[in-house]
Amino acid sequence: MIKEKPPSATVYQTNALGGTSKMYSYCSNNLLNIKDVFIKKVVHADFYVKVFIETKPSPQTCPCCGSITKRIHDYRIQTIKDLPFQTKHCFLVLRKRRYVCSCGKKFYENYSFLPRYLQRTNRLTAFIADCFHEQQNITTIARRANVSTATVNRVLDTIHFPKMMLPEVLSIDEFKGNAGNEKYQCILVDPAKHRVLDILPGRNQQCLTQYFYSFPKMDRLKVKFFVCDMWQPYVDMAQIYFPNAKIIIDKYHFIRQVGWAIEAVRKRLQKSMPKKLRKYFKHSRRLILTRYHRLSNEKKRECDLMLLYNDDLRKAHYLKEKFYEICQNPKYSEQRTDFWDWIKEAESSGIPEFEKCAKTYRNWSKYILNAYKYSNISNGPTEGFNNKIKVLKRTSYGIRNFEHFRTRILMVTDM
Ligand SMILES: [Zn+2]
Repeated sequence: MIKEKPPSATVYQTNALGGTSKMYSYCSNNLLNIKDVFIKKVVHADFYVKVFIETKPSPQTCPCCGSITKRIHDYRIQTIKDLPFQTKHCFLVLRKRRYVCSCGKKFYENYSFLPRYLQRTNRLTAFIADCFHEQQNITTIARRANVSTATVNRVLDTIHFPKMMLPEVLSIDEFKGNAGNEKYQCILVDPAKHRVLDILPGRNQQCLTQYFYSFPKMDRLKVKFFVCDMWQPYVDMAQIYFPNAKIIIDKYHFIRQVGWAIEAVRKRLQKSMPKKLRKYFKHSRRLILTRYHRLSNEKKRECDLMLLYNDDLRKAHYLKEKFYEICQNPKYSEQRTDFWDWIKEAESSGIPEFEKCAKTYRNWSKYILNAYKYSNISNGPTEGFNNKIKVLKRTSYGIRNFEHFRTRILMVTDM
């Protein structure tokens, strides 16, 4: 935080009222843009601007007995932090008026721009809150607003998001947030509306149950699709709390199993290769992973050469390509038949990595087939949100406090 600099040679004053026309005072008051406040003096220093302000006396209602008083008891000077002005920190120096009532009660005037007990204007608080829409850490926001990091955190504490409304399509995914005491947090997204709905502190059964149980049954029955990855607690939970929802395994999450399987085959074969060849296979693994038809003719020949090396690798590559083709087929009836054929073929391939993959697919077949059947529903936007969360984590050097993390994610992803 930039320390307030004592008045130096560069400090100069402008007198808003003395010696200037009414027009000028109107302009300067208008520039400050606070209703019913008059500028008496402006002091400019290198790093700050001090604006000395006053209000007109007016009849006041006593907070104690309710009667009207005009009697002024005394004044007190209060320095208030305001929005940065001309890239400098801005302080309002307010001559605070205290009234006294006939009942004996002494009280300060109320100011619409200044909440009681606070040393900053409402609009500075709003400015701080607005900063949370951007990927800035607390220290940066504090510096920009000329307040302490504790103040920024206190403003963050006051921001609350109402409980979400359950959408027709609900998608859930986890990300490594390391907030609270949990490694993974859950992100709930409405993929149809491209909106982040909420962040959950963990992804275990207890956490999911606690959260979804709190929604009225009427609302839960309206969820038609539930998109998730192959994490059993998600499915268990969806079956209980969203009985009308079709469960869909997100495409990205099941397709990558095939990628993992062929990678595992390559790694296994590499172990028995001479060093030079091993290095080449590792270096050129992309050729095997990429869809064959996307490779240039030259790369295709390189890939062919790699596949000639071993029968298992060739078979694995064939199974991978075939699986991708099934996923891209627009006809569901064909996809379903081909999917089951693929599983049988992989199970009898003699390649342990693909036998394992096929077993996984068999276990999750119902929900994978739903992904084919309702192919218009996808988890696409979640990926983009996860990237935003990553950036937020990086710029903030991690956010330990889960509630702060949740608020910040909801604000950063709110467009
Ligand atoms: Zn009174």
